[in-house]
Amino acid sequence: MSRVHIVGAGLAGLAAAVRLSAAGVPIVLYEAAPQAGGRCRSYRDPQLGRVLDNGNHLLLSANRAALAYLDEIGARETLASPTDGPLPFLDLASGEAWRLEPSDGPIAWWVFRPSRRIPGTRAADFLKAVKLRLAGPDATVAEAVGTAEPANARFWRPLTVAVLNAPPEKASARLLWTVLAETFLKGAAWCKPLIARDSLADSLVEPALRTLAARGTAPRHGWRLRGLVRERDRVAALDFGSERIALAAEERVILATPPTVVADVLPGLPLPEGSDPIVNAHVAVSTDARLPDGAGILGLVGGVAEWIFLRPGLASVTVSAAAQWVDRPAEELAARLWPDVARALDLPDAPQPPIRIVKERRATFSQTPANLCRRPDPDAAGLANLLLAGDYTATGLPATIEGAVTSGQTAARLALQRLGARAAC
Ligand SMILES: Cc1cc2nc3c(=O)[nH]c(=O)nc-3n(C[C@H](O)[C@H](O)[C@H](O)COP(=O)(O)OP(=O)(O)OC[C@H]3O[C@@H](n4cnc5c(N)ncnc54)[C@H](O)[C@@H]3O)c2cc1C
Repeated sequence: MSRVHIVGAGLAGLAAAVRLSAAGVPIVLYEAAPQAGGRCRSYRDPQLGRVLDNGNHLLLSANRAALAYLDEIGARETLASPTDGPLPFLDLASGEAWRLEPSDGPIAWWVFRPSRRIPGTRAADFLKAVKLRLAGPDATVAEAVGTAEPANARFWRPLTVAVLNAPPEKASARLLWTVLAETFLKGAAWCKPLIARDSLADSLVEPALRTLAARGTAPRHGWRLRGLVRERDRVAALDFGSERIALAAEERVILATPPTVVADVLPGLPLPEGSDPIVNAHVAVSTDARLPDGAGILGLVGGVAEWIFLRPGLASVTVSAAAQWVDRPAEELAARLWPDVARALDLPDAPQPPIRIVKERRATFSQTPANLCRRPDPDAAGLANLLLAGDYTATGLPATIEGAVTSGQTAARLALQRLGARAAC
């Protein structure tokens, strides 16, 4: 059977590779970096002397494509729920704590119960979710749901920033609605948080590489795509600088690189413009450190830190939509974030422990209303043997693991259909 060349071994490329290899299609996987995983990776950090993730990644029980991928690579059990009950939150400024506890069924009864609502909010604050559903394609979250406090600071802003890596004034209302419809509005069973028990690599990357290895494939690392050689309506060769890979007539390409690379090799293709950063801080803490109620996760408002994931000896902190922070020196960021962590873990302010700052400048494409219509379909390049995959493509989902995996699985399905169609001719 003809080969499929996959460029980029992030989650989109890995998901495509796993699906195609399962169908018996020979694949070649090219990756510019020395490791696979892309924006969802782990590495050994010499300063903290342990394996760190590039950033906290949260999955939800509603993420069907991601969970199917984990099943395909035999890694579902490497995920753990960081809390037995509802998601806990703490307001660092006021000290108030609450839990976000969706109802069991699709009707959001919880918003009518003051005891289950976020302190200071009213049922009407949450019923504004309907306005997201009704919002036009140009509307931002803030335009749809407003900015009334404290619902904005305690619910809509943290939710939007966590899901879309953009503040409500910038983020697409429609895109937030798609997530609410798949989670909160289906009920608690769809909102269960899941995280990698040990590391992103152990859950999402290494098991995929082992699966591929068992099928005779390993990524070619250090292969950076420089250009596509076109011949009429198809790609004739992949240009990796010192190497050029000529494609046989039946061979396909799945381009699973970030949109910046796609813009270089496919000039003129409309693509989402701009990106938003995420800053993470990994803080070495005592193995005795505990979050309230022994949870492994805590949402924070009223400070700089937004989420803490706690593993034995390590508190990992997320700051999403971090445009105002990303250019500051690591020492300053550590000094800003440590008091938030100390407060959340009820630790003394001094001394400040070792902290590793990880900056992801292009964590996601800017998930604005204007960018939604610039997300390309897999075959948007108009080249017969080329498909696009990646979290920026038109999945209808935010730029997340679920979106990346969905795009890879879609590209694999389309590649299979086209190979099948040719084989039948
Ligand atoms: C800090 C951070 C936190 C996040 N938190 C969450 C979260 O909580 N939940 C969630 O669901 N999602 C989260 N995300 C988003 C998620 O990580 C991404 O959506 C997903 O990993 C994107 O996968 P991808 O395969 O589309 O792209 P990428 O991961 O960018 O993969 C592209 C691959 O292509 C390679 N490549 C680039 N250029 C070339 C080239 N020229 N030639 C060959 N290869 C090339 C890259 O090295 C990379 O391996 C987060 C992202 C970040 C950065």
